[in-house]
Amino acid sequence: MAQKKAQSTQKKTAEAKGASTSAKKPAESVKAAPVKSEPVTKTEPAAKAEPAKKTEPAAKAEPAKKTEPAAKAEPAKKAEPAAKAEPAKKTEPAAKAEPAKKTEPAAKAEPAKKAEPAAKAEPAEKAEPAKKAKPAAKKPAAKKTKPAAKKAVAEETKPAEPAAEAAPVAEQPAAPAAETVAAAEPVAEPVVEAAPAQPQYDTPRRSVAFIGSECHPFVKTGGLGDVMYALPRELVKQNCDVRVILPRYACIPQKYQDKMVYRGEFYMDLGETGRSYYVGIMEYIWDGVVYDFIDNQEFFSAGNPYVGLVEDIPKYCFFSKAALAALNYMNWIPDIIHCHDWQAALVPVFQKTLFKDSPVGHAKSVLTIHNLRFQGIYNIPTIRYWTGLPAEVFNMGALQQAWRDANMLKGGLAYADRITTVSNTYAWEIQTPEYGEKLEDHLRYHSYKLRGIVNGIDYGMWNPATDPALAVNYDITNVLERKPQNKLALQKELGLVEDEGKLVVGLISRLTNQKGLDLVNAIVPQIMDGNTQVVVLGTGDKEYEDTFRYYENAYKGMFSACIQYDESRAHRIYAGADVLLVPSRFEPCGLTQLNAMHYGTLPIVRETGGLKDTVEPYNVFNGGGNGFTFDRYDAGLLLDAINRAKTEYFTSRYHWDEVVQRDMAKDVSWTNSARQYKDLYLELTPW
Ligand code: ADP
Repeated sequence: MAQKKAQSTQKKTAEAKGASTSAKKPAESVKAAPVKSEPVTKTEPAAKAEPAKKTEPAAKAEPAKKTEPAAKAEPAKKAEPAAKAEPAKKTEPAAKAEPAKKTEPAAKAEPAKKAEPAAKAEPAEKAEPAKKAKPAAKKPAAKKTKPAAKKAVAEETKPAEPAAEAAPVAEQPAAPAAETVAAAEPVAEPVVEAAPAQPQYDTPRRSVAFIGSECHPFVKTGGLGDVMYALPRELVKQNCDVRVILPRYACIPQKYQDKMVYRGEFYMDLGETGRSYYVGIMEYIWDGVVYDFIDNQEFFSAGNPYVGLVEDIPKYCFFSKAALAALNYMNWIPDIIHCHDWQAALVPVFQKTLFKDSPVGHAKSVLTIHNLRFQGIYNIPTIRYWTGLPAEVFNMGALQQAWRDANMLKGGLAYADRITTVSNTYAWEIQTPEYGEKLEDHLRYHSYKLRGIVNGIDYGMWNPATDPALAVNYDITNVLERKPQNKLALQKELGLVEDEGKLVVGLISRLTNQKGLDLVNAIVPQIMDGNTQVVVLGTGDKEYEDTFRYYENAYKGMFSACIQYDESRAHRIYAGADVLLVPSRFEPCGLTQLNAMHYGTLPIVRETGGLKDTVEPYNVFNGGGNGFTFDRYDAGLLLDAINRAKTEYFTSRYHWDEVVQRDMAKDVSWTNSARQYKDLYLELTPW
């Protein structure tokens, strides 16, 4: 039941992402002026120079946030409404009030939780070695990673000094066993447990605050949600203290809302609104990661995270500022603030202006671009109104774009200490006019701090050997017998002709212009040869939804159009299909091809972005590679790639099976990628 609710929420949110996109168009069209017109680089220094900007000094003066104590008393969430009532409190960020303890204490404190993660990582991988029995699998040896057990020099990361945090302790009581350990942050109790199984880390400890707009399983519309879920968990295993800060959307399923614990509240002024806004903090600790949800019903009560720019711009201006103020308020000052996409792109800008002299102002910042197409563009007066940012950030080197627009992502790129994107190829592509979305000059200017780190997938969530959604579980040792059983189950579920001899082509995607669906639509009639079935799962633009529905009707029993967002059906398609299409126009990283490979389903991809970095083309001469690829954005080339796959599948099954096993053995976990993020954090904090 709860899952159904979650699914419908996800579907809605996925649709809303499309809405948000289209909503952006008008705004973009205003700024017609070509990139050239930006005097580009020249102005940049100003951003850095950033003088003093003493904005919101008042905060300092005012002593403390009296609000808090009272808060302690009342236990749970519903706190907010009252907030609205009392407008009087001009008290901006109580945050500013507690400046004294620079000491980022608690962050480092919680020691205990470290124990569990390491164990969790392994199971999935364990499966691989076994497959050796089979012929294929040539690249298994990937997971060195852990060995080096050189007692972390790291633990120098200040002891605890939890005194200041004493209050929150009381608020964490209800957490279940595993989580209680993680809740260590507060204070005393859990300490005893720390001794037994301390993992050995080979890098120093760092604290990181993730700030972003979505995170599985609370709310997800695409790959960003997967990354916000999986990367923090992996970083915990690599000696990081991670806190994920998210909006507390009303659409977060109730079962998660119920687990949140009240952590505190304060009031914050916002831009030129002249008002004081309630900021509640609801906390949930899970598998060593602390999730802090910023609560404010005025901004987050819509049914979906993304509604349209008119609402989304104020919402994420508020969120970015509130996230920083919340860190100050909790006195949890991380070494690194890692923000994601345009929704959190103002964080580095706030840090270096309004929060410059507060504790969070000193944290290093990393901004990750998950999709450059979404930038958060609106006219300057509106963004000034909602942020209160000083005039100098609205220049061409930072937020300003064209004549009268402000671009939130552009500003973040200018102010962040490091920029990452989710694959090497995309990091290069976005510096060209074809993929740069009008920010290519800006990105080239900042390329010295830009790098690509490819995403992974969470092996706990994506594991055919344990996946509860599948008809039959399998691993690399029995995939050849059991995958066909999943195919038959999928055919049955979708009302397709049940025949394991047919080639089943899967497509799991947001149905938008980015995903190469016009290419697919153009060649469907040529794919349908009587021995091939197609299964589409996705929601999005009506034109694509309708075209797929048309094909379902035209090729009864051979074509299935599931116009829906359905997480568990997605798992069954990965398991039951033989190939998965990902012919994207551009693809920052792409996760579906990784999921597919891990489930022994060969990807057919366009060589762009992360698709190019993760799928090695099949080589008919030596049998190497992971899937089928094509380069130019051309329907004929996609058809050719599909035909090559068919030829191999129908005439050379032995070689096909080798690739299936090789793909399952390929390391697409987060381990290596998280290590690269950790290295990046260490570069920024070389103490
Ligand atoms: P993007 O972030 O551009 O949407 P990615 O490939 O990075 O694309 O991530 C897509 C994620 O969303 C994958 O985990 C994929 O399985 C999932 N997904 C996409 N569409 C659906 C759908 N209709 N139902 C279930 N899961 C979906």
